Amino acid sequence: MTADPSAARVHVVGAGIAGLACAVRLARGGRRVALYEAAARAGGRCRSFHDGQLDRRIDNGNHILLSANREALSYLEEIGARDSLIGPERAVFPFVDLASGARWRLRPNAGRLPWWIASAARQVPDTGLGDYLAGLRLARAKPADRVVDLIAPGTALFERFWRPLTVAALNTAPEEASAALLWLVVRETFFKGEAACRPLIAREGLGESFVEPALARLQGAGAEVRFKQRLRAIETAEGRAAALDFGEARVALGQADRVVLAVPPAVAADLLPGLTVPDDSRPIVNAHIILPEADLLPPELPFLGLVGGSTDWVFVRGDVASLTVSAAEDLAELGNDEVAARLWHDTARALGLDESRQPPIRVIKEKRATLAQTPQALQRRPPARTDLSNLFLAGDWTDTGYPATIESAVRSGRAAAALCCA
Ligand SMILES: Cc1cc2nc3c(=O)[nH]c(=O)nc-3n(C[C@H](O)[C@H](O)[C@H](O)COP(=O)(O)OP(=O)(O)OC[C@H]3O[C@@H](n4cnc5c(N)ncnc54)[C@H](O)[C@@H]3O)c2cc1C
Repeated sequence: MTADPSAARVHVVGAGIAGLACAVRLARGGRRVALYEAAARAGGRCRSFHDGQLDRRIDNGNHILLSANREALSYLEEIGARDSLIGPERAVFPFVDLASGARWRLRPNAGRLPWWIASAARQVPDTGLGDYLAGLRLARAKPADRVVDLIAPGTALFERFWRPLTVAALNTAPEEASAALLWLVVRETFFKGEAACRPLIAREGLGESFVEPALARLQGAGAEVRFKQRLRAIETAEGRAAALDFGEARVALGQADRVVLAVPPAVAADLLPGLTVPDDSRPIVNAHIILPEADLLPPELPFLGLVGGSTDWVFVRGDVASLTVSAAEDLAELGNDEVAARLWHDTARALGLDESRQPPIRVIKEKRATLAQTPQALQRRPPARTDLSNLFLAGDWTDTGYPATIESAVRSGRAAAALCCA
């Protein structure tokens, strides 16, 4: 549907996943949309680019969806990119413990009753049913509880299941992560059976799946998309946003115009004095390595979870291995050469390669990858509505109730779009 050029406009600021999901929803509903992005390209924390050092197109970091991520998958449907994700037909997560050499596959069963925790063939090595049942304490989590307040650390199950799960889902160590938010993840995945736990990754890249199809949809619907437009200030009058100041350009807002601010929390706080936002974040460190041969992991299961080293996950696409370390506060402080050496050490052991021959490695540190999903920081997530009657917030960090992920970003963008139309 193309918008009526005389109609009121919605100005969406920030072309990350939240801004894109918002703009697509509005444009497809026939609204006039203008999308402004400070960078030269869209995608924000979820993007692909050509890396000159490796001479490959890479993602800023591995992103994984689960089949439980309903809104994220429906966003992909909406932009015509659902088929661009690949993953195994059944939920399966291969793991290796670099310290002991143990290898196993996490395979939740079909159906809501998680009987896999009682099956010796499916349990994580060195764990027993009692360890899993102890994890049910998470169901009683109060807002102030950390994961370690309810699940005792130090057991094999903690190090091989709870820690990797917490860090992957919340980008926060279990010593400080919110137990209530982790319980939401467990409830929506493991307690819904394997059909909700299937891992999905972009076949080609994040740009090809999440970003370019959205831009094409926006273009098709006649939306304006403007890059290198950094919002510097919001002029207000009578409890409304009255104009947007982009430095060289000033956009006066009509009476019926709306604004969606889909920028990171610190930027939103600068633009809207008095707004409470999560003020603590956690880094994710990624490394991309050119391997001596292609497809070292099976194409139907091209990733591997690692415990007992520095690395959390290895993904293989063609001859590039991409490594992820979440909640990587310590690693992010090290120099890139030291990071590369540590992650190559893990990769060589996990994939059975000659460690003495370190190939070219590109390290990418996302210092503010997500908000710190601690009980304290989560209390600072604001709702989409603001004190300005025509301005709404979006972003994975807003109060969607979900971990700060693509799912949360899409939910926030769509919620803001609905408020603009209300
Ligand atoms: C390395 C890494 C790995 C991740 N892994 C996963 C994963 O496996 N699964 C998952 O679901 N999620 C993952 N995430 C989280 C996911 O990327 C984010 O939740 C999502 O991309 C957030 O989107 P957003 O639109 O809320 O924010 P952002 O992507 O931060 O978008 C904000 C946009 O606003 C723009 N902007 C900033 N200031 C201004 C301004 N003044 N004017 C105009 N524009 C401005 C920015 O340039 C940016 O494009 C990962 C994140 C990282 C960094």
